[in-house]
Amino acid sequence: DDFQLLKVIGKGSFGKVLLVRNKRDRRVYALKILMKSRVLAKKQVEHTRSERKILEEINYPFLSRLEFAFQTEGKLYIGMEFLAGGPLFYHLQQCRRFSEDRARFYLAEVIVGIGHLHENNILYRDMKPENILLDKEGHIVITDFGLSKLTDSMDATAQTICGTPEYVAPEVLLGQSYNRAVDWWSVGTLLYEMIAGLPPFYDKNRKVMFSNILNAPLQFSSLFSTEASNLISRLLIRDPQLRLGSG
Ligand code: ADP
Ligand code: MG
Repeated sequence: DDFQLLKVIGKGSFGKVLLVRNKRDRRVYALKILMKSRVLAKKQVEHTRSERKILEEINYPFLSRLEFAFQTEGKLYIGMEFLAGGPLFYHLQQCRRFSEDRARFYLAEVIVGIGHLHENNILYRDMKPENILLDKEGHIVITDFGLSKLTDSMDATAQTICGTPEYVAPEVLLGQSYNRAVDWWSVGTLLYEMIAGLPPFYDKNRKVMFSNILNAPLQFSSLFSTEASNLISRLLIRDPQLRLGSG
């Protein structure tokens, strides 16, 4: 009753994301709704707890913040700043691909955001253009900490196989224990996708794509400058210990 529903702005895995106006302060917010039954059914209780905890702790440019949260018997509600620029994914689809200047601008902000998460011992694990939103000035904001993991050190490892196929690092696919280097792999994938319009190892057949991620040579068309292909090649090194960003 405290909110006026303005419109549906997104669809999440556990419910909708709504644009609402708080009747008291008249401000608009994005309200992410999670149905407890679906969170339970998909065994995402721990991930959902971390999502809220991380959103609450983080206060940093390029990272989404919690404004308020509450729950009812059946649902969880997460209130965040409304990011009016929409998902990066949408803009990439509209333009097919970005100029390298534009890609560089977004990438720099993504790196600052991911770097801050790592400094706070958080693995992000879900880097992709759907989870990067633009604010009203066109700066990026990394949202959706639903797969993020709070760990106890910068070098902590994890085992859970999760993420989105296109962006998942080889060590995750292989079921090995992994660390923050997985995020740098997906940052490399993101940069490639922004410049080329498709992620590097893409295939509509998932099995082929997985095998490409593990084995296929990385190829650069003439769309890539030497600097961009050099950076991407080092972010997409399959051995996480040799990968740029792993320390
Ligand atoms: P899920 O964890 O289910 O993927 P997300 O947190 O990614 O849910 O939200 C789903 C979609 O809702 C996003 O891709 C985006 O389009 C929209 N959305 C989420 N948060 C915001 C926000 N703060 N402002 C504007 N749109 C948002
Ligand atoms: Mg998402």
